[in-house]
Amino acid sequence: MSAQEHVHEHVVKAMLREAGVPVPRGVVLPPDTRDFGAAGELTEPLVLKAFGPQLVHKSEAGAVTLGLRATELPRAAARMRERVPHLAGFLVEEQAAAGVELIVGLVRDAAFGPVLLAGLGGVWTETLRDTALRLCPVSEPDARRMLASLRAAPLLAGSRGRPPVDLAALVKLLLAVGGPGGLWERLELGEFELNPVIATPDGVTAVDARYLPA
Ligand code: ADP
Ligand code: MG
Repeated sequence: MSAQEHVHEHVVKAMLREAGVPVPRGVVLPPDTRDFGAAGELTEPLVLKAFGPQLVHKSEAGAVTLGLRATELPRAAARMRERVPHLAGFLVEEQAAAGVELIVGLVRDAAFGPVLLAGLGGVWTETLRDTALRLCPVSEPDARRMLASLRAAPLLAGSRGRPPVDLAALVKLLLAVGGPGGLWERLELGEFELNPVIATPDGVTAVDARYLPA
């Protein structure tokens, strides 16, 4: 049995930033804070999230509020405190522009070891199960082939007049996680999941990060 707990989202995101994976700019505030001044340096719209050891599926727990102005933070936080018992703190971060939501993760196969997973993310992960798997370390051509193999590949390539997402940035992210020297070498898996990574024509951002060490 593992005695480990999920690492707080902002701690995982600091690790990601270090590894070259783009994450939203954000500030961390204590659970009882009334002063949201520190969020003043962030660009609106803002996202308010609660974090805590019990908070694994935040949306279901009412622990994510999107589309806020800085002046709306105190009220949104007060409401979140009522909905979410035992919250350990707040993460206020910049809201990434809408795009294609992907899942990128690492799983440990009992026989083969760390495996990189990439697929359609957000609300579609469970429903459509559109994912690709490769043993780590993946090469750049591997990463490109994983993305090309998805049924969602046309969404990435641009369709119905929409421009393609920044594929080079997406491939770079996959390599930072599962490529040579990537995060897979340093993490104790466990469970590691970025869902979603939002891909747009201008780049990629990992807006959620979950890590449960083994
Ligand atoms: P959880 O998966 O624990 O419910 P998330 O952090 O993934 O919580 O947030 C839920 C949803 O809110 C995400 O799937 C994404 O669509 C959106 N979201 C969360 N954070 C951001 C952000 N910084 N920018 C844009 N969208 C976000
Ligand atoms: Mg999520």
